[in-house]
Amino acid sequence: MSNRILVVAEHAGGKLNVATAKAVTAGQKIGGEIEIAVFAADGAAVAGEAAKLAGVARVLQVDHAANKDAMSAVLAPQVAALAKSRGSTHVLAPGSTFGKDVLPRVAALLGVPQVSDIMNVHAANRFDRPTYAGNAIVTVETTVSPVVATVRMASFAAAVAGAAAPVEKTAVDAKLPTHTRYVGIESHKSERPDLQSAGRVVSGGRALASGENFQKYIVPLADKLGAAIGASRAAVDSGYVPNDMQVGQTGKIIAPELYFAVGISGAIQHLAGIKDARTIVAINKDPEAPIFEIADLGLVGDLFQLLPELTGKL
Ligand code: FAD
Repeated sequence: MSNRILVVAEHAGGKLNVATAKAVTAGQKIGGEIEIAVFAADGAAVAGEAAKLAGVARVLQVDHAANKDAMSAVLAPQVAALAKSRGSTHVLAPGSTFGKDVLPRVAALLGVPQVSDIMNVHAANRFDRPTYAGNAIVTVETTVSPVVATVRMASFAAAVAGAAAPVEKTAVDAKLPTHTRYVGIESHKSERPDLQSAGRVVSGGRALASGENFQKYIVPLADKLGAAIGASRAAVDSGYVPNDMQVGQTGKIIAPELYFAVGISGAIQHLAGIKDARTIVAINKDPEAPIFEIADLGLVGDLFQLLPELTGKL
C-alpha cells in the first residue's frame, strides 16, 4: 500500500510557520502522497502558501469558525476525523509547542501510540528519535497504522518552493468539544525572529544576574546580528526573561547557523537544545566551563566587558 501522509499545518496571523515545511520534508523522506491540512476560520492565504511547498499533492483547507484560534481540544477531533476519511497512513506535525499539544490528542483519538520527535527516517515505520535529553539516539519501529508522529524541526530542512498544488476546501465531520472555549491569548509582539526558526540566536545565562542586564548586554548584540534571543533555564528561573525563551531539554530545541552562549556553563540539559547549531560561540569567564568543549569559537573573559566591546565592533 502506498503511503498517504497528512501534515497538519502550523500557522498564525494568516502566515504559514516554516515548521510545516520541515514536517513536509520528513514526509518526503517517508515517501508517498503528501497532503497538508490547514485548519482555520478562513485558511485561504495559509493554504496558498502551503500549496507552494515542493512535493505536496494537495492542500485540504478546513474552514470552520471554531478554528479561528488554534486549540488542541478543538483541532484534534478534526485531525483524527480527516485522517480517517482520507485513509492517511501517517499523520505528521512539527515537534513545536503546537504539534506537541495537538498530536498526542490525535493519537489518543485514533487509538495509536505517538512517535515523538522523529529526527531521521529509515523506513515508513522506522525512525530515529532522541532520548536521554538528546544524549542517545534510539531507533524505533511502529507496527500500528496510522503512524502519528511529531517531527524534530532541527533535524529537517524546510521543503522548498515547488509547483503549486491544488487547494481543496474540505468539510470535516467531527464532534467538537463544548467544554473548552477560547478566552484569550497573551503574547509578546516582537519584530525579532522567532527563536525556533531563527538563523542566529544570542542566549544569556545566570551570569547576566538581572533582567536589566539582559536588556543592556544581550539585546544590543542580538539587534546588531538580527538575532533571536534565548536563555538558559537558570536565567529563566531567576526571572530575567520569560520561559518561552528557554533553550534546552525542557525549553526549545533549536538549530541556528550561529549560536552565542553568553555566561552559560553548558550543562547537558542546555546542550540538548543546541546540538544541531552550526557554529557555537561561547563567552565565559571560566576557561574550564563545559560549554567550551562544544564551542567552535570561545572568548574567555568577563561578559560585562566583552559584550559591549564586541557589539561596538560589529
Ligand atoms: P550556571 O551553570 O550557573 O553557569 C553560569 C556560567 O556563567 C558559569 O559557567 C560562569 O563561569 C559564567 N559566568 C559567571 N559570571 C560571568 C561573567 N561575568 N562573564 C562571563 N561568564 C560568567 N537548563 C537549560 O538551560 N535548559 C533546559 O531546558 C534545562 N532543562 C533542565 C531539565 C532538567 C530535568 C534539569 C534537572 C535541569 C535542566 N536545566 C536546563 C538546568 C541545567 O542543568 C543548568 O542548571 C542550567 O543550564 C544552568 O544555567 P546557566 O549555564 O545559565 O548557569
